[in-house]
Amino acid sequence: MKHLILGNGPAGVVAAETLRRAAPQDEIVMVGSEDAPPYSRMAIPYLLEENIDERGTWLRKDPGHFDRLRIRELRGRAVSLDTDQRRVLFADGHFEDYDRLLIATGSHPVRPPIPGVDLPEVQTCWTLADARAIAAHARPGARVLQLGAGFIGCIIMEALAKRGVELTVVEMGDRMVPRMMTPQAGGMIKRWVENKGIRVVTNAGVSRIDRGTDGAPLQVTLTTGATLACDLVIVAAGVAPNVAFLEGTGVHVAKGVLVDARLETSVPGIFSAGDVAEAPDLFTGAHLVAAIQPNAADQARVAALNMAGRETTLNGVLAINVLDTLGLISTSFGQWWGEAADKGGSGVEHVDEARSRYLSLQFKDDVMIGATSIGLTEHVGALRGLIHGRVQLGEWKARLLQNPLAFVDAYIARSQPVALTH
Ligand SMILES: Cc1cc2nc3c(=O)[nH]c(=O)nc-3n(C[C@H](O)[C@H](O)[C@H](O)COP(=O)(O)OP(=O)(O)OC[C@H]3O[C@@H](n4cnc5c(N)ncnc54)[C@H](O)[C@@H]3O)c2cc1C
Repeated sequence: MKHLILGNGPAGVVAAETLRRAAPQDEIVMVGSEDAPPYSRMAIPYLLEENIDERGTWLRKDPGHFDRLRIRELRGRAVSLDTDQRRVLFADGHFEDYDRLLIATGSHPVRPPIPGVDLPEVQTCWTLADARAIAAHARPGARVLQLGAGFIGCIIMEALAKRGVELTVVEMGDRMVPRMMTPQAGGMIKRWVENKGIRVVTNAGVSRIDRGTDGAPLQVTLTTGATLACDLVIVAAGVAPNVAFLEGTGVHVAKGVLVDARLETSVPGIFSAGDVAEAPDLFTGAHLVAAIQPNAADQARVAALNMAGRETTLNGVLAINVLDTLGLISTSFGQWWGEAADKGGSGVEHVDEARSRYLSLQFKDDVMIGATSIGLTEHVGALRGLIHGRVQLGEWKARLLQNPLAFVDAYIARSQPVALTH
């Protein structure tokens, strides 16, 4: 049996290693399209901060690791797939056949169609090559404009600040991290960041980027009409799954590759995991891309076990985001935006602006379905536990609506085994 794995990020690597354990005799081929050993994008901010070198980003440090596991590594970019003949065509013209295929090709950053977005001083922050280019331009005192204050934008902000650049962040939404944080939480993160000396412009976009005229390499025009002289623009305006090579195949793609609870696609024998996959959500069953590394690893493990013939399912994806924005820790879980009141939805917010603390809990009937927190670094695992476990809160729901900070007590009371009485 030959397993072909497209992608050598966290999903590809975990799948290959799981397959080797589950199917000791099978052939395993893992393909990456970048000019680097398998690495973790999560480590890029540490690289930009110069806390680690490139080797520190590698997922497996021992150069002989994959050879020893008899995992054949290939460099190449899949350009098309023939599901009848079970083979993949690569950009260099060679075909690779398979018995089982895993699509773990991740996603790529989107460059909005703005005039000037392809100038060399305009960078995305996604690959090691991007990180090298940013490091070359983001010197102390450099004027940097970051387009987008979403998940990735917030994560790289600290690294940029530590490099001593003069940073302006421009965000189309009315707050920071608008797709992961409530209006109150996004506003608190904005004020925190501004207090650290970063300029944040919300409700605005970039309308064009031109060559600078007054000595600066770039002149950026915002949708507000304002213009800024910049040395570097970093585009962090969202990502899109790498699915182009699936066009015309029977593999169903919505935003990402649609998979079932076994991580199998619409074509038997073809599986998908990680940032490229859309798996059923824990609560709604609707398909969801959950683009975080722990999710990639969990999905890869389940996909690989099924590829090896061991029936395994994943109990639905729970969207989890944990952000460290210049030292302010924020989290959002599940359906953090809540549920409509006529569908059994209710919620509560606790705001402590002075101590930079915040908590929003959202319920459907007596089950917590989502939460957002800021500054509550201890015990957020209890929030995850309550939501992931779909714990029935009973009388604790009313108590939490009164005092949301009692969520740890609720977790202990409702999820610990009841003591046996004789
Ligand atoms: C700067 C940054 C910071 C991040 N921080 C965090 C964090 O703090 N926490 C967190 O959980 N997540 C974080 N993430 C997200 C995390 O990196 C991703 O969720 C994770 O990399 C997903 O793993 P993956 O294997 O699905 O995809 P990827 O890591 O993107 O790997 C996909 C692989 O597929 C290969 N590939 C793509 N197209 C093709 C093709 N056509 N043919 C062959 N191979 C192909 C590529 O070479 C790539 O190696 C961060 C991401 C970035 C960019």
